[in-house]
Amino acid sequence: MPTSDTNPAIETTPSKSAEAPRGRSALDGVALPDDPVAAILEVLRRGERFLVCSHSRPDGDAVGSMLAMGMLLQQMGKRADLVSADRIPATYRNLPGAEFIRSTLRVHGPYDAVILLECDALDRTRLLGLEPFFLVNIDHHISGRNFARVNWIDCSAASVGELVHRLVLAAGATLTAEMATCLYTTILTDTGGFCYGALDASTFSLAHQLVQAGADPIRIARDVYFSTNISRLLLLGTALRHLKRESRVAWLWVTHEDVLRTCAAEEDCEGIVNYALAVAGIEVAIFLRELPEHRVRLSLRSKGKVNVAAVAEQLGGGGHENAAGCTLDGPLDRALDEIFAALRDYASSFPRAAGLFS
Ligand code: 5GP
Ligand code: MN
Repeated sequence: MPTSDTNPAIETTPSKSAEAPRGRSALDGVALPDDPVAAILEVLRRGERFLVCSHSRPDGDAVGSMLAMGMLLQQMGKRADLVSADRIPATYRNLPGAEFIRSTLRVHGPYDAVILLECDALDRTRLLGLEPFFLVNIDHHISGRNFARVNWIDCSAASVGELVHRLVLAAGATLTAEMATCLYTTILTDTGGFCYGALDASTFSLAHQLVQAGADPIRIARDVYFSTNISRLLLLGTALRHLKRESRVAWLWVTHEDVLRTCAAEEDCEGIVNYALAVAGIEVAIFLRELPEHRVRLSLRSKGKVNVAAVAEQLGGGGHENAAGCTLDGPLDRALDEIFAALRDYASSFPRAAGLFS
């Protein structure tokens, strides 16, 4: 599996030793090609030791693409440490190698490069200590930014896993059944079960290749969609009782008290927003979740022409055109007022969203 025997990245509390200079990287002073795939391959070939990470609150794309990237590095004879600021949701703990992803808040170690997957900014990782490293950024968010030494942002990819798959091919590596399972999961989850996102014929041909390579689509769908816990369904029931609609916008919410009462975990909130989006005639759906520290997390979805990433970015968040998020100050009704004001603003500036409130 793609981890080193000892993992110096692992540290759950900040420490003084973490502030030490990182030392030389095999990539210092190396001239890299302009083409991002060629540049990343060069980085992978020249480096010996890598840290692979993704965003906090990791989803299927974050977990699956980290694991597949770790497997690619291992095949190339490299050492890779896989870390996440938050624990891996139960849904993805069956993925091959998921047990090797370690939880940490600060990283340090003799890494030649850090590979960030699915992060539109460094702080999306919620990891401390990344700045001094040689950074490689692989992303598919419309809100993606060139914050690293090498940046590969392709919004046409259905998942970052799709980009990792391109690297596997470009590296001439073998697409193993384990890799295919992880990569199929990234596509399945980022397209909501082949329903939305950057989905076109090429996505299905990639899915075809992955199934041929050994991904089991029925087993993966069962793990992702049919292995839920009761808490999640109880929380969903609460959220559905709060479902409201105004014109083409629907929203639902849960309070912190609801989360405690149903014993739901953070990951149990994933996908609840889609029930609001399912209403006929709705173009934008919002799910609000009250956090303990008087903040509110928002998940935004659209199924029309509204770019919810643009709306989320106005409020300090980001994401994709049809799926985005942000965190606002509470209480809930204040956060709701704020997102509605941002949506009205957006609707008045963009003719394509003009019908949102009429
Ligand atoms: P979700 O609603 O599932 O949490 O997130 C939907 C999409 O928006 C994901 O691609 C996620 O990475 C992105 N996203 C969610 N919250 C934030 C945020 O606070 N900042 C940024 N930059 N992206 C976010
Ligand atoms: Mn993704």
